[in-house]
Amino acid sequence: MTSTRRDTVVAGNAPISGLLVVVSAPSGTGKTSVLREVMKKRPEVRFSVSATTRPAREGEVDGRDYRFVSDAEFDALLERGEFVEWAVVHGNRYGTLSSEIACAVERGGVVILDTDTAGAMAIRKMFPEAVLIFIVPPSPEDLKKRLEVRGTESPERVRIRLDAAPGEVKRALRYDYIVVNDRLDDAVAGIIAILDAERLKSGRMKPILEGWRV
Ligand code: 5GP
Repeated sequence: MTSTRRDTVVAGNAPISGLLVVVSAPSGTGKTSVLREVMKKRPEVRFSVSATTRPAREGEVDGRDYRFVSDAEFDALLERGEFVEWAVVHGNRYGTLSSEIACAVERGGVVILDTDTAGAMAIRKMFPEAVLIFIVPPSPEDLKKRLEVRGTESPERVRIRLDAAPGEVKRALRYDYIVVNDRLDDAVAGIIAILDAERLKSGRMKPILEGWRV
């Protein structure tokens, strides 16, 4: 099963003064490792912790990787309008909490969101300034190997994730950037180069130019 959009809630329509970055990748690409390294090198970058009904994998920490919630808790968050967007991905519910991205929207911070492709498109609709990055594995064979070696999913769940991958990769061209995760260091350097360049975009530098009366 691929993702199923059920609902999209716009959490206010304030313009983004910071940098909102959405990263997607087929499951098993190594996105989490890449993003962890990026945040080690750029400690000011915040990771938006989503809520999910998926059970935690070994090594995952509640509140750091996800907010792991029950179905009832997810429903309550939905009812209170706390999601910017949410989706069913590979059979579980995942949602971006508006509180997590408030710092980019209002306070000029840099926030990275990890969503599926539908989530990325929903975020772009709400925040056209958002920067969308797609991480792609070097090849389909490589992805299969990585998912099997990772061993965190049952064979059936590995199959669901592998079946979803071609559809996800097809949507990569809608993203602003594509980073190939062949070597971890290269992928990390690629993402950091994007963050640094985006922060220097002329539109974001306007406050610096104010003294020049331009
Ligand atoms: P995983 O279970 O491997 O951590 O994530 C499965 C998929 O759910 C990934 O494609 C990931 O990007 C996506 N995902 C994680 N959090 C969110 C979210 O808040 N919203 C959406 N739409 N997708 C998410």
